[in-house]
Amino acid sequence: MTTTLITRIAPDVGWLPVSFANVYFIGRPGSKWVLIDAGLPGWASEIFSAAEARFGTGSRPEAIVLTHGRIDHAGSTLALAEMWDVSIYAHRLELPFLTGKSPYPPADPTVGGALAFLARFSPRLSRDLSARLRELRTHKLPGAPNWVWLFAPGHSPGHVSFFRDSDRVLLAGDAFATVNMDSWSGLLTGRRQLSRPPTPFIIDWQAASASVRELATLRPNVVGCGHGVPMSDSDLAERLEQFAKRFRAPRRGRYVRQPARTDENGIVDLPPAPLDPVPFATAAALFCVGLALGAGYLDERDRRR
Ligand SMILES: [Zn+2]
Repeated sequence: MTTTLITRIAPDVGWLPVSFANVYFIGRPGSKWVLIDAGLPGWASEIFSAAEARFGTGSRPEAIVLTHGRIDHAGSTLALAEMWDVSIYAHRLELPFLTGKSPYPPADPTVGGALAFLARFSPRLSRDLSARLRELRTHKLPGAPNWVWLFAPGHSPGHVSFFRDSDRVLLAGDAFATVNMDSWSGLLTGRRQLSRPPTPFIIDWQAASASVRELATLRPNVVGCGHGVPMSDSDLAERLEQFAKRFRAPRRGRYVRQPARTDENGIVDLPPAPLDPVPFATAAALFCVGLALGAGYLDERDRRR
């Protein structure tokens, strides 16, 4: 297996795309380092090999820290924590979804867009990381004291982003994205663009909007998100500010007017699920295809008589 190499996006900050999600490495070879997020399930050996190539054989992080616990960010966490014998850190409000106590609020496929369409087919997997899980407490990042974590909910209840003030590097997680996953062309080409977080998985649009506005005030020089290629354009701070100003919830969607309510135990209550016309439309289309095929079969049979 060839090892995918980590790309440096700022001093002592490495980026590794694993499938369609990103993981980040904070720290330099020969000193302490931290892994931010861990991709989908099944990516542990890829991440492990990339880390060994960068930090040296036998090297291990101080901790694995999660922006949040959804499966595309926490999927390989436990496997890596076992390999390295380290702890996993997440925000208090994220813990019920990482201990098997509660599933995340369900995705909203009615919100519109490419990812929302695909969300209909994504399984609602959950993980129990209890054996290794710790709560993020002080605002310092464990193992990386010159970084802080910032509460940035909306996509999930206990979502956090990470920031280094000295050179204004922001690892935003899924507070926003640098690829437009609402558009099929954005998904297919991966074109860099400041974009909304994965929309069908936003469970509180007001909080998501407030989080983007809050992060924009940091005026970052470098931004690495959970999805999309990191950005470091010279006008990035201005563009993020404009993006935050324009950030709007979609017109319709389950969590647009009312958020999912959660607490330390997980889901408290959910807005009712709107009618999703797509399964009916798909069933109707399949029915019509079936009719057409059936008619063709009958024609063929009649011709043969
Ligand atoms: Zn994600």
